[in-house]
Amino acid sequence: MSQIGFIGLVNMGGPMVSNLIQDGHKVKAYDIIPEAIDRAVNKGATKANSAEETIIDAEFVITMLPAGEHVRSVYLEDNKILYSVSPKTVLIDSSTIDVITARQVMEVAAQRGIEMIDAPVSGGVGGADAGTLTFMCGGKIEAYDKAESILKSMGKNIFHAGDAGSGQAAKVCNNLMLAIQMIGVSEGFLLAEKLDLDIQKLWDIASTATSKCWSMTDYCPVPGPVPTSPANKDYSAGFTVAMMLKDLNLSQVAAKDNGLNTPLGAKATELYNTFSQLENNSELDFSAIIKQISNINK
Ligand code: NAD
Repeated sequence: MSQIGFIGLVNMGGPMVSNLIQDGHKVKAYDIIPEAIDRAVNKGATKANSAEETIIDAEFVITMLPAGEHVRSVYLEDNKILYSVSPKTVLIDSSTIDVITARQVMEVAAQRGIEMIDAPVSGGVGGADAGTLTFMCGGKIEAYDKAESILKSMGKNIFHAGDAGSGQAAKVCNNLMLAIQMIGVSEGFLLAEKLDLDIQKLWDIASTATSKCWSMTDYCPVPGPVPTSPANKDYSAGFTVAMMLKDLNLSQVAAKDNGLNTPLGAKATELYNTFSQLENNSELDFSAIIKQISNINK
């Protein structure tokens, strides 16, 4: 059992806190939204009145924040917890953020003798609820070894990807590939329709052939072949278009910063960006991008 400070409590953080408590850990929880703290307290957490309060006596502090600016704010700029946390505390940032910010924050931690890992997740709210998240971690192996048992309370697959920022690097590469695959599968199924090829037949063939990928076998963007896919629930998320667009934008910043041209990544970013600006599309599941491919053909 460990004493854990947890900052950022809504979609992902809320169920992650529940799973930590179910595994017997003590959690002191904080969010700038008071109702989110109340929900965590109802699940058995202790209320913290500030981010600074979560770190008192904490063996681990976990942050699950929207973006790099929030991580910078909590660790370095506004709450400055990196400047007051005990060197005995291990810091775990599970937010999905840009690699540069992750490395900068972890550099300050290293300078102050504080152990920290970046540990972004995949698996979405469903995975957070079920405690089956995948954690992709970066940082010193000693810090990772200490954090691993805590991450196991919230996840099923836990990886050490390399040095500081490697978790974020793995996440951004994964989601770049995922977005492109989803668009590819969408185009294949739309073409099948035009060619009067039965959708189920295409799925039966392609899911055992060379185009086989998760976007087809587990998350098919057309209703029918995979009953559990969001396409069968009017594309309710799941992993939203807004989240995918955020990660694609991170991929494009990372690619540009490192002098890499990713033409399909750039096109995928453009398609998701256009789609997200129409109606309430940004809150749909990211597999709804098939609608955008349909739209540009009208
Ligand atoms: P969310 O907006 O539901 O939760 C983030 C919380 O952080 C909010 O409640 C917000 O009030 C809080 N917050 C912001 N600034 C704060 C501060 N200074 N102090 C305290 N709390 C603060 O977002 P989410 O969907 O839970 O996503 C969290 C992170 O996980 C993001 O980086 C996201 O990219 C990543 N992620 C999300 C999903 C998903 O499906 N939702 C999947 C994988 C990864």
